[in-house]
Amino acid sequence: MVNTRNRRGRHPAAPTPTRAPWGLGTPQGRRRREPLTEPAEVARPSGHGRWSHPLSSREQNARLDQFERSLRARFEAVIPTLREVAGLRWSEHFAAEASSLIEQRLGVEAPRELFDQAWIAPLDMRQLFGVVLGGVIRQVAQDVHRAGELIGSDLTSFFLECGYHAVDISPCSDGRLKGVIRAILRLPDEAVRSRKAYAGAMFDVEASVRRWVETELMRFREGCPVPPEAGTRYLKVAVYHWSRSDPEHEGCAAHGSDRERAAAGALRRLREFREAVENSFYCGASVDILLIGVDTDADAIRVHVPDAEGDLTLDRFVDNHDLYEATRFLDATRARLAIYEAIEAASGTASRPHEGMRRLIATLLINNLSQIDRVYETWQGRYPDVGHNETFISVGDGFEEFQLRNLAYFVYLQTVEEAGHDLDVGIEIFRRLNVRRGLPIPIAIHFRYDRRVPGSRERATERCQRVRRAIEDRYRALFEDGYVVCDMSIQDRETGSPIEAVSVHELSRGHGGGS
Ligand code: ZN
Repeated sequence: MVNTRNRRGRHPAAPTPTRAPWGLGTPQGRRRREPLTEPAEVARPSGHGRWSHPLSSREQNARLDQFERSLRARFEAVIPTLREVAGLRWSEHFAAEASSLIEQRLGVEAPRELFDQAWIAPLDMRQLFGVVLGGVIRQVAQDVHRAGELIGSDLTSFFLECGYHAVDISPCSDGRLKGVIRAILRLPDEAVRSRKAYAGAMFDVEASVRRWVETELMRFREGCPVPPEAGTRYLKVAVYHWSRSDPEHEGCAAHGSDRERAAAGALRRLREFREAVENSFYCGASVDILLIGVDTDADAIRVHVPDAEGDLTLDRFVDNHDLYEATRFLDATRARLAIYEAIEAASGTASRPHEGMRRLIATLLINNLSQIDRVYETWQGRYPDVGHNETFISVGDGFEEFQLRNLAYFVYLQTVEEAGHDLDVGIEIFRRLNVRRGLPIPIAIHFRYDRRVPGSRERATERCQRVRRAIEDRYRALFEDGYVVCDMSIQDRETGSPIEAVSVHELSRGHGGGS
């Protein structure tokens, strides 16, 4: 039976914050609105003689470019290095030469036993590829955990100023959305509480409710980040995607490349989440939902504008691709004004969202203009790799360090069964990307533990082993031919903790039968 007692609007006085949410009347809130009246700037030509958008941050773009280039270079060096290793095979000192080449070029250690029998038995290049790539993944993740500073931290308190004490974003697990927080939306890592990805953005409603419970408990127990009486809300965002240039083929694989289906699926989940909180905890009004679409050709977002009740529809949105084109040659003040007008116009005859939400949407659109500008500047407005081009499949809790477009296909899971479909989609993508040209599918299994909790580290290690066995069982034929290679690692929850490799033999007690 559906509990309708707690529906929004039925108790307008109690849970619905009738006053303005936290932050709107604060000095920061007023400061945030000032840009509307700042002196006009004139659009200026960029380095390539192109006119960049007046609201785009070229400094941020340059930092992101440099960071991403150095990161990709380390992955791109793997195949040429291994080709060279294959060429050394008949050398007398092969084992020593191969290990030192790998260490020197890629910064990882390759186990000597892989090379020791190369003079008599064929060298297992697929296994070597898996081992080396696994090492590079862990090494790079270790090196880049401070990259959050790329965006600058002046946005950290921004959500609070808009009236949100926590933001939980669930994008599709598609690798092209991997940069959604840092590059596409330009948000600092620490501003987003959770960013678990699911195939087709079809996030787990129960898991989202659990995260909401944890967040609210912290507010009641510790008053962190703001006490319950502050009147702030919890924001849940779902991100779907499509391809403007090839909508039939390069859209969301989980929804058959159908943009409307992808958007409708994500919206359904968002409504279910809010209803679950409403029905279970009598406070649905403290939850806001937001639906965002990404055109993965150019990283341009489409933000669906809620009404005053917080409800969303598929046809009420602002498309930032159009907005970018319409505001490119304006001065900064007019461009900013045009953005607020576009949000207003998108609402049409519907009621308007609260002010915090309007400011949030405007800021996301403005932030995203920098990314669109960057794609214009570097790739003339369309990525050369519009389709899938991931390097590995990331499974488990995922490395929070990697937020790079098309680097990894990410499947959030605790057991393989619960995410079997998501994993199947990833394996299909990698059959085309890797297996077709003889390369194995690299899967990086990564779980976080909490060192304050007794036994947590051991459980995370066992979970790695269990997931690895379940993957081997599920893709038995591929695995036996050496086309699936797994790397396992664990890491303490605290940001920036060392990444610890887990070997196949570690704590492998074999109980549970791999499920
Ligand atoms: Zn997708």
